[in-house]
Amino acid sequence: MKKISIYRPSSVDEAIQILTQHGSEAGVYAGGTDLLVRLKNRLQQAPTHLVDIKKIDNLRYIKEDANGNVCIGTATKLSDIAESGLLKQRYPMLVQAVNMISSPELRNASTLGGDLLQEVWCQYLRGGYSCWRNGGYICYGAIGDNSYYHSAMGGRLCYAVYPGDAATALIPFDARVKLATPSGTRELSMEQLVPGDLLVDGRIQSHVVRHNEILTEVVIPRPKPGLRASFEKLRPRGVWDFAIASLAMSLQVRGSLIDDARVVFGGIAGKPLREAVVENFLKGKSLSEDLAAQAVSVALTNAAPLKYNATKIDMAKGLLASGLTKLSSANA
Ligand code: SF4
Repeated sequence: MKKISIYRPSSVDEAIQILTQHGSEAGVYAGGTDLLVRLKNRLQQAPTHLVDIKKIDNLRYIKEDANGNVCIGTATKLSDIAESGLLKQRYPMLVQAVNMISSPELRNASTLGGDLLQEVWCQYLRGGYSCWRNGGYICYGAIGDNSYYHSAMGGRLCYAVYPGDAATALIPFDARVKLATPSGTRELSMEQLVPGDLLVDGRIQSHVVRHNEILTEVVIPRPKPGLRASFEKLRPRGVWDFAIASLAMSLQVRGSLIDDARVVFGGIAGKPLREAVVENFLKGKSLSEDLAAQAVSVALTNAAPLKYNATKIDMAKGLLASGLTKLSSANA
């Protein structure tokens, strides 16, 4: 392993100062379930100055604000989310999605912020290959085995899929995030936080957070009456793998009429993929038995699978059909 230094600030401001001092060599350390694997695998972009934010106690909470929104500190463990009575009552789809992330042991260590900002799990990157994302000049995923960890919706330099489930499940609720920066707090939508592979501080990453910024809070608006939501996930091993394809969806329903829709695919693109074509198709339609087949026929028409991952698109369409069928039932 590389030689590393660990810092334990007691406030977000102090953490930002340390991160700023060490530049792109520094990184935030919370649950460690992603970061420690990157260090162990000697990835070039793994930080050597770790700023441990676990002792900053105002980053771990789940609470309701004065407007009825639910606010979650980003150092909150996934297991806290999975067990929260408030979240189970208000956003059962989110709790279901978090319960399908990894194993109980890892959920007990992983934080919400870590899940949102985790590095991709492309086997070439994690194996230490010198690819674009690891400081090299080639993408092995585009030309090698791309059956699981790679995009079926095209890419730029890096073809790895965005691996997290929490962002995919939060977008249908129009969740927003707060980012502490050296010049104050910034607020972003979840989609703005994870727009897919881009160059930040000289590194390719899936999110926009700079080396001296800290994700502090996720804010989920209070759902309106009539909101129905579902989460579907397919994975190679049913107990704890990343999604080979997933779908998070919400429908704002009045009677049987769909007033609004959010349709977000996970595991098939470099970001949680909002499928606007299907959302627009669903708006104004009545929930019916035929709707699922009609929606599938207009979904993902711009797919661009690689040599070995076209089945991801079939799986994603199957999830759309099963999600819509579920939400169409009277008890959804
Ligand atoms: S998909 Fe991304 S992480 Fe994987 S080999 Fe290509 S550049 Fe590297």
